[in-house]
Amino acid sequence: MIADTPNPAGAGRYAPSPSGDLHLGNLRTAILAWALARRTERAFHLRIEDLDRVRAGAAERQLEDLAALGIDEDGPVVLQSTRGAAHEAAIAALTARGLVYECFCTRREILEAPSAPHAPPGAYPGTCRDLTAAQREAGRERMHALHREPALRLRAEVATWQVEDLFAGEVTGTVDDLVLRRGDGVVAYNLAVVVDDAAAGVDQVVRADDLLSSAPRQAYLGHLLGAPMVGFAHVPLAVSPTGARLAKRDGAVTLRDRIARGETAEDVVGRIGDSLGIPGCRTARDVLERWDPARTPREPWVVDLPS
Ligand code: GLU
Repeated sequence: MIADTPNPAGAGRYAPSPSGDLHLGNLRTAILAWALARRTERAFHLRIEDLDRVRAGAAERQLEDLAALGIDEDGPVVLQSTRGAAHEAAIAALTARGLVYECFCTRREILEAPSAPHAPPGAYPGTCRDLTAAQREAGRERMHALHREPALRLRAEVATWQVEDLFAGEVTGTVDDLVLRRGDGVVAYNLAVVVDDAAAGVDQVVRADDLLSSAPRQAYLGHLLGAPMVGFAHVPLAVSPTGARLAKRDGAVTLRDRIARGETAEDVVGRIGDSLGIPGCRTARDVLERWDPARTPREPWVVDLPS
């Protein structure tokens, strides 16, 4: 579990996808990831998850914004796209253990397939898990005609896995035969995140709680790959006054938008501090010094800004 005690050997991290500017919810999660690492005397790393959804210039802007809030990192910022060899090595290691199979299903086939008994909705039903050699050959030909590669899936040997979350407590969640490499050849998020966190010595994962259901899959994959045990802290999402997940369309929700409206980075940290019940914060360090993780609100943060 995430011990709220020093662990000099471990590290925390923040791992944004460079799809645009970070909004206040992202910035709040980043500050909390940094603060939790620093208060437990861990290193803190930044990783840009640029395998997918990349907007030109977004990574640089995100890093500038994080620095403007007072977040500092140890060591170089890692670009996930430079980690291909490590991702492929992990897939090869799992393959050598018979833990990988080719999947020829289209998205529609998966949606329309009857789910396996006891499997929760959305879990892969295992259609391609035990194909004969002839069926696999036919699948490859079908993929070839579609100009796609088969996806690679993990042959999971468990149905559930338990993780410890600082806020949610012990969480037992589904582990299905998750995708390791997609049909378009891109390494899947779940694999990349586990391999890259392990390589960086990360043992504390703080992120938004829309990823809580991915944590058991990732922890199981980490277990298979011999990664350090990770403690999670999934922070409530930020939402607009309508209750929808905060997004660009909600108006001036990024640091740059706020600055364009005459606020400062310190004012924005102040808003984040207010959301945590610690008014008067001006920098990430103020949050570090005053934030009590045990008193973090568990409900989504409703961001209602003057436009
Ligand atoms: N890159 C993911 C995102 O921006 C976060 C991944 C993670 O923290 O594990 O949503």
